[in-house]
Amino acid sequence: MLDITGLSHRYEDGHQAVDGVELHVDRGELVSIVGPSGCGKSTLLRCVAGLQRPSAGRISVAGRAVDGVPDDLAVVFQDYTRSLFPWLTVRDNVALPLRRRGLARAERRARALDALAQVGLDATAGKYPWQLSGGMQQRVAIARALAYRPALLLMDEPFGSVDAQTREDLEDLLLAVRGGAGHQGGAGHRGGAGHRRGAGHQGGAGTTILLVTHDIDESVYVADRVVVLTGAPGRVHSDLPVDLPAPRDQIGTRALPAFVRLRTEVGRAVRRP
Ligand code: ADP
Ligand code: MG
Repeated sequence: MLDITGLSHRYEDGHQAVDGVELHVDRGELVSIVGPSGCGKSTLLRCVAGLQRPSAGRISVAGRAVDGVPDDLAVVFQDYTRSLFPWLTVRDNVALPLRRRGLARAERRARALDALAQVGLDATAGKYPWQLSGGMQQRVAIARALAYRPALLLMDEPFGSVDAQTREDLEDLLLAVRGGAGHQGGAGHRGGAGHRRGAGHQGGAGTTILLVTHDIDESVYVADRVVVLTGAPGRVHSDLPVDLPAPRDQIGTRALPAFVRLRTEVGRAVRRP
C-alpha cells in the first residue's frame, strides 16, 4: 500500500528533517510512528500526503508514485484549529470531501451523520466548529476522515487535544476501522460513540493507517507495528511487530506481559535513538 525508499528532506533553510527513511506498509496495516520531538514525523507525513515534495527518495501509494495528493487518502492534522471551515456546519464540514466520491447529496449527509455518530458527536451536526471545544473540533476532523473511507489514512498526533476517556474510545474506533467490517469483535464503546460496522474504504479491505503519536502506550495498543525514528534528522531506528491478540481491550491488553515488554522496548528506543 505504501512504499517509501530513501526518503530525505532538507528545508530551504538547510535544515535536514529526515534522512534516508525506508518504510513499507501493507494494505490494512496500522503502523504507529514514534520518535523524539523534531525528528521529522510531520515532515514524513506531509511528503506521503503529497503536500511537500521530498528532496530525495521515492514514495508510492498503492503502486503509484506520489506526485500531488493521492486520490484515496485522508489526513488528520495535529492542528485542528486550521482544519475545519468556520462558515460550514459540522455536518457540512464532514460531508464536503464526499463530493469527490461522486455521492448524491442525501448519501453525503447520511455518511456524515454516521461518521459523527462514530466519534460521539451526532448531536452537534447543526453547530459550527467555533461553537465546539478544541477536543470536539478534532473529533469532527477525525469524523471527516472516516466518512471519506480512504484507502490510506494519515494521522499526525490526532488525539492530543481530547480527554483521556475519549482518547481510548477513539483508539478503539481506529482498531475497528483498520480491520474493516467485523474485525474487532466487540471493542467496547462508552458515551454513545456506538461504532458502526463497514467503515472500510471503497476497495473493501481494511483501511491502511499511519499514526504519528507521542504516546508510547498508545503506539503499541493500536498498532500492528511500531516504527521508531531516530533523533533529527529522522530515519528508521527500529521497526517492532506488535503481536498482541485481537480483539484488543483497554484494560486487558495493557495488562499483558507482552504489552508491557513492548512499551518498554519502544520507550527505550525513543529515549536512546
Ligand atoms: P516532528 O513532527 O517529528 O516533531 P517536524 O517534521 O515537524 O518534526 O520537523 C522536523 C524538523 O524540521 C524540525 O527541526 C523543524 O523545526 C524543521 N522544520 C519543519 N518544518 C520546517 C519548515 N517549513 N522550514 C524549515 N524547517 C522546518
Ligand atoms: Mg509533528
